[in-house]
Amino acid sequence: MSMLIKNVRLDGQPVDIFINGRYIEKVGERLSEEAATVIDGSNKAVVPGFINGHTHSAMTLFRGFGDDLPLERWLGEKIWPCEKRLSEDDVYWGTKLACVEMIKTGTTCFNDMYMHYPPVLKAVEEMGLRATLGSTVFDFFRDDLAEKARRQVEKDSCLPRSERISFSLAPHAVYTVSGAMLRWIGDLAKAGGWLVHLHLAETQTEYDNSVRDFGLSPVRYLNSLKILAPHLILAHCLYVDDEEIKMLADNGVKVVHNPNSNLKLGSGHVFRYEEMKAAGITVGIGTDGAATSNNLNLPEAAKIAALLQKGWRRDPTAMPAGDALKCITENGADILRINAGKIEAGRLADLCLVDLRSSPFAVDFNFVSNLIYAAYGNCVDTVICDGKILMENHHVPGEEEIMRHAGAAAHRLTNFRHGKGK
Ligand SMILES: [Zn+2]
Repeated sequence: MSMLIKNVRLDGQPVDIFINGRYIEKVGERLSEEAATVIDGSNKAVVPGFINGHTHSAMTLFRGFGDDLPLERWLGEKIWPCEKRLSEDDVYWGTKLACVEMIKTGTTCFNDMYMHYPPVLKAVEEMGLRATLGSTVFDFFRDDLAEKARRQVEKDSCLPRSERISFSLAPHAVYTVSGAMLRWIGDLAKAGGWLVHLHLAETQTEYDNSVRDFGLSPVRYLNSLKILAPHLILAHCLYVDDEEIKMLADNGVKVVHNPNSNLKLGSGHVFRYEEMKAAGITVGIGTDGAATSNNLNLPEAAKIAALLQKGWRRDPTAMPAGDALKCITENGADILRINAGKIEAGRLADLCLVDLRSSPFAVDFNFVSNLIYAAYGNCVDTVICDGKILMENHHVPGEEEIMRHAGAAAHRLTNFRHGKGK
């Protein structure tokens, strides 16, 4: 399958892009290649597909359920009781809804952590996105649950997957997963060449409890377990000092900032991006799940990330728009070890076309600034992933049915009744 995108803007210049199979084969002026599909790119700009560094896709089912609560109460009173009732079918439709939302706002790849691996995998296979899907591990410091979790991971890791999808190990957090399990996961990841995806240093409470229970802050605790490694992706990392940033950098650990959920859950607003960047840490940006963010609109998360840096530092030069865009493209690709994140020959054909006829682009001094600070995710009208069109003219095939099923599943799960539910 070949595709030619004609006369599209790349870094301000009109170019043609020839896609052959899964890869971008050529980028240049007036290409003469014959292609099965030709797309007129006039009045459009091309950008790499966005890469969502941390989410829980099926949590679209809990959007707006239990809002405005602290993290610990939100998890304990709202989310975990409902998640016990989740069926595979619910997770399948919730994940599909997440995929629709991500595609509509330009995301072509995401890093997921959720339970019920098989329906998540099935949904993502069908939707055509690229993803690293984590098999979530909780053992709550109990041997029987640890054994169950090990069997689950072994089963999930063996499921057949297309080349678009990779497996990762996803221990939930240091307060839900024992040190022994974290070490087992670290060894398994090394042996299997897999990524490990973990929440860390998200709240002051988590930090204080880590000091109380392990005698060490969260990063120092991981360091003491000897599991800091280049395959480790840490979501959040709000509570880290200079020495801990150095520990993460020295061990090649990756960090994903989730500004919207950090703000909404009141977890904190000080993410030390400039210090991490200076130390050489690759920083990505995630939306977190739709239950806490409350959407999966990654360009919006990039904007909030940039504004937060400027705000808490009182420095308008902190995290410029170009950095924010890099976090959701190149850095995301580095973190997930995929050959994407840039529009150039030899890269995977994961890209978006942005409609330049929308108002944020009418005054065009600075495309990147307009994209990050002015536009909405819905400025993307076409999404291509792995050389296949996932959205054209803002429409994702099957989206109406997906929204209907996901809405029904969410109501059933939460026993929501109009006028009664909260
Ligand atoms: Zn999360």
